[in-house]
Amino acid sequence: MRNMSGRIPQSFIDDLVNRVDIVEIVDSRVPLKKAGREYTACCPFHNEKTPSFTVSPNKQFYHCFGCGAHGTAVGFLMEYDHMSFPEAIEELARQAGLEVPYEGGGRTTADPDQQKQSQDLYAILERADQFYQQQLRQHPQAQRAIDYLKQRGLSGQIAAEFGIGFAPPGWDNLIRNMGNSDALQEQLVTTGMLIRKDDDRCYDRFRDRIMFPIRDPRGRCIGFGGRILPDGGDNQEKGAKKPAAAQGRASAAGGRKPGAAKYLNSPETPLFHKGRELYGLFEARRALRDIPRLLVVEGYMDVVALAEAGIRYAVATLGTATTGDHLNRLFRLCNEVVFCFDGDRAGREAAWRALENTLPVMQDGRQVRFMFLPDGEDPDTQVKKVGRARFETDIDAAMPFSTFFFERLKEPLNMDSLEGRAQLVSQANPLLAKLPDGVMKQTMKEQLGRFARLQDQNPVRPAPTGARAPHRYPPPARRSRSNTPSRVRYILQRLLHQPALAQQAGDLSRFSKGDVPGLDLLVEVLEILQIHTTLRTGSLIERFRESEKGSHLQKLAAWQPEVDDEASLAEEFTTALNKLEQMCLQQRYDALLAQSNLGQLSQEDEAEYRELFRKLNQDKYKH
Ligand SMILES: [Zn+2]
Repeated sequence: MRNMSGRIPQSFIDDLVNRVDIVEIVDSRVPLKKAGREYTACCPFHNEKTPSFTVSPNKQFYHCFGCGAHGTAVGFLMEYDHMSFPEAIEELARQAGLEVPYEGGGRTTADPDQQKQSQDLYAILERADQFYQQQLRQHPQAQRAIDYLKQRGLSGQIAAEFGIGFAPPGWDNLIRNMGNSDALQEQLVTTGMLIRKDDDRCYDRFRDRIMFPIRDPRGRCIGFGGRILPDGGDNQEKGAKKPAAAQGRASAAGGRKPGAAKYLNSPETPLFHKGRELYGLFEARRALRDIPRLLVVEGYMDVVALAEAGIRYAVATLGTATTGDHLNRLFRLCNEVVFCFDGDRAGREAAWRALENTLPVMQDGRQVRFMFLPDGEDPDTQVKKVGRARFETDIDAAMPFSTFFFERLKEPLNMDSLEGRAQLVSQANPLLAKLPDGVMKQTMKEQLGRFARLQDQNPVRPAPTGARAPHRYPPPARRSRSNTPSRVRYILQRLLHQPALAQQAGDLSRFSKGDVPGLDLLVEVLEILQIHTTLRTGSLIERFRESEKGSHLQKLAAWQPEVDDEASLAEEFTTALNKLEQMCLQQRYDALLAQSNLGQLSQEDEAEYRELFRKLNQDKYKH
């Protein structure tokens, strides 16, 4: 729990999630329309024209039938407002007029400094951002920065839109201009703006650099990227490669020594996580109402130069490889992501790493392609050379995911030989296994099968199955199959729809001897609901946050009965529970019987065995 020591008590979270209204929370951000018992809207997490996003006030739960996004009020704030878990709890508590109690550690939010800390950090970065932008306009040495930006073809409008600034030379600009109280210095250190030396004195991390503020999806500044100015008059970087990997690797003490990294990023801080953030995403969302696709490039200047050329959908990772988190975020906004890399060896390596990280999130409907620029060009230089139209045509022609996948694997192999083809299969299979189940995986496996058999397969020819793909959709029932067997799932669906049913479940010890997969979770949920009788679906699910059980329960919570009738729901629930009990008893009986045949039954077991025998037969006659 970052920023705050101490755990938030479960009872408080239960109470809070029970008390807030998810409809109100969502509606203030995404206007909802009432539809029967639920509310709907066009989904904020994927692009759509007809609403498939529903919010259930009963369950205190949202679900999108289009993209599968779902969660509680807490989850919604985390996804939509991009908050951490404690931040979401704090926000909900604020709306409910409650104060968050923190267990242990002794620090509670009763301490106003503590409570405000994260807001303060945003405010500090906001001030630093303002300061740098002001310095670009006013500082006597800013002309070098302005000249550089102009020479790179940047207009004042785009520079202002991206909030580009200037960190003047010197070691103590921030302290001198923002104040030097201990508290402030501490916050500047926490946000990565100052570096504390061994003798406890602090100095500016960013000196004599062009500053690119990095914003979160809400537009708040959470960190910076700083680019050194070209030394003297000669423009060394013209045509020179931008070392993508070096961007984040700048040494902490990196000043203007020879060899100082060209780009320097804020370090990881409570507000800034490189593996999650994308430079330019906020600006893209602000500039475009509908994002057609997103182009992932390597540097700040690439994003800004493309925006200048009218291509507003470029984003950059921040000196790290693209992560699954990045991709999930991108795919919420559009269905197509194009990676843009240098055509040289390093670029191809980076592209392959991106592909590997993409595999687990390649759900059907998502498209990933790879664009390789001519050797020595980056998006900034290339778009200037060929212009927007041609650049966008090249994006259109980017290499499909599967093509890059197979080309790259086949490249070093002799596909005319049996060995080469066998090697392709052994290398491709573990990778393909990472793809989520669906048409894409199926098609690529078939493609692999053809490569393995055929000797003269033309690698650029599109897979012949492509056109048939839609007919190959596995039936929905199979796709949604989960690892919980149907009976337990059936019961959980009804229980999550109507948590009060738990009160009809009776004594749970009747399931204690069963060995049905999924039974543990069901009993755990029933126990919780029998003790905490006021929990609603949302608050129940919150108790399983960040566990596999939790994500499983969330999926089940999206279930809707065909006819929402309480009496029949209760009957289905009770009948299914009784059948489950029967199953447990039978299992136990079979186990004891097996032991008995081996002559291994203790006296106690023997008694249980007889009792079970009696019970099972009695029930048999009853039904
Ligand atoms: Zn959706």
